[in-house]
Amino acid sequence: MIMQKERELIVEYGKKLSASGLCPGTSGNLSICDRETGLMAISPSGMDYFEVTPEDIVVLDINAYLSANDTQTDSLVSSDSDQTSDTKSDRTDLYAVQSKPFQIADGTRKPSSEWALHSKFYKVRPEIASVIHTHSVYATTFSVLNQPLKPVHFAFGRVGAMEVPCAPYALFGTMELADIAARTAAEAGSNAVLLANHGIICCGADPCFTADIGGKVGAGSKLSSNSAIAIKAAYELACDLEYCAELQYRAMSIGSPVYLSESQMTDVLNQFKGYGQPT
Ligand code: 13P
Ligand code: ZN
Repeated sequence: MIMQKERELIVEYGKKLSASGLCPGTSGNLSICDRETGLMAISPSGMDYFEVTPEDIVVLDINAYLSANDTQTDSLVSSDSDQTSDTKSDRTDLYAVQSKPFQIADGTRKPSSEWALHSKFYKVRPEIASVIHTHSVYATTFSVLNQPLKPVHFAFGRVGAMEVPCAPYALFGTMELADIAARTAAEAGSNAVLLANHGIICCGADPCFTADIGGKVGAGSKLSSNSAIAIKAAYELACDLEYCAELQYRAMSIGSPVYLSESQMTDVLNQFKGYGQPT
């Protein structure tokens, strides 16, 4: 079985997401990308997190999908968010691709319906190696308001930006959602993004990322990737942001929250460098 270690991590963190209440029922999904091969291990669609075994995890070749859709992928990093009629018709073509949407490298289950969403994040953010999507209640509450999460507490520090933006609404499991979510996160330089009236996406960086692999998924890194650290980072970001979203919600219900300033957040990031046990 290929990507054995990554599959085991996805099973382990799926249970954590379910037990912590961040992913009620079968909602949400999670993945790990191996940058050396361009293979993505992703949770199966609609399965109970406590019934999923490593064999149920699906391995997709995301380069096969991305290279077939380069035009749309390149448009993600464009600053022009207007949708021309041409762009819309391109997207209609992409919907058609969904009948034969992905190339399974290993696994017998149907992959998460958000396989394109995960793939696009790996394309536009070459430094990340894990993506977690949840429907956690407080973050999703702000997504229903179509309002960003703000730095209410130092736990916000790992976002890497001054807010978690909210991507405009798009139907779950579509190319349109993948496109608009990845575009919104890339433009904000944020490690997380809200999906309007849906949930949140959190990214975990690969500590072995080197700039020489650039934006090419699977171009070959000199160092082997550390998927365990990446998925832990994505999970901790999901937990931290749910905590911050609850604080923001509670503060807004009794007054006007005071948000941390940019220089205060810079101090927070410096302070984090010496936080915890030495490795
Ligand atoms: P999957 O079970 O297909 O991963 O879908 C859950 C979800 O959250 C869709 O947005
Ligand atoms: Zn969802």
